[in-house]
Amino acid sequence: MIRIRKRSTVPSTLTKVGNADLILLKATYINNSTACQLPRNKLLKIKQAIYGDTLVKQALIDDQHEKCCYCESKFAATGYGDVEHFRPKGGVRQDRRGPLEKPGYYWLAYDWNNLFFSCEICNRRYKRNWFPLLNPTLRAKHHGQSLSRERPLLSDPGHTNPSRYLKFNKHVVTAKSVSNSVVRGKACIRAYGLDRKPLNRRREEFLDTLKLVRFAASLDLNNMTPADLQTVLTDLAMTLAQAHNYIALARSVWSEAAFDKSEYAGMIRDNFPQLPRR
Ligand SMILES: [Zn+2]
Repeated sequence: MIRIRKRSTVPSTLTKVGNADLILLKATYINNSTACQLPRNKLLKIKQAIYGDTLVKQALIDDQHEKCCYCESKFAATGYGDVEHFRPKGGVRQDRRGPLEKPGYYWLAYDWNNLFFSCEICNRRYKRNWFPLLNPTLRAKHHGQSLSRERPLLSDPGHTNPSRYLKFNKHVVTAKSVSNSVVRGKACIRAYGLDRKPLNRRREEFLDTLKLVRFAASLDLNNMTPADLQTVLTDLAMTLAQAHNYIALARSVWSEAAFDKSEYAGMIRDNFPQLPRR
């Protein structure tokens, strides 16, 4: 995970249609507040066509450089991805396997600050409705209550740098053992499935490939003995011109490996703190 910086101009679907529908949601809650808190009730009709509108989704995809907000995987070739609500819109669980508390954060259903682009696995297999608070008695239960008293255990990718709670040792993510960061870090790893085996393997392969890129970027063809140069060209199976292009590309990839746009930038930053970030 890294901190995500979204555009300040909110997609018009949310400001126009979303705000209009929000008035209806709030009115529905005010007129049926007790019923809206009953288990399994579906009185608050949150519209996927609004928060999942193409304009909204594409803006999130662009701002997040096509990466999942939690696992940082680029998965466009194998999945559609979800428009994810950081604070769950339709019901909340304090405990992973505890009861679903209704109505959830319905008033944030079309809130740009609460929306992110995530892969289906992080969202549907792991996080789902889990949104634990340090003190659940301070949870905002409806749109008239303030969020400012809440102390979420999960790191909001839009507001907090997850490196406060998480650190990578090679490809393995752990919770930072600093004061109450441990409980938050562990909650993030569990909620987003950041240590799931296929993701660990993918990050390990990515790191191994990046080390090859770093090696290629370090080659200096102009200051080699003729014998060494010939060995390099033979190993690469390239002409001298092709090798120069290859090394230039490797240097470009290496220099940008920790940028926000790069896959697994959080892991790269912990492993190679000397790399520039942007
Ligand atoms: Zn993901």
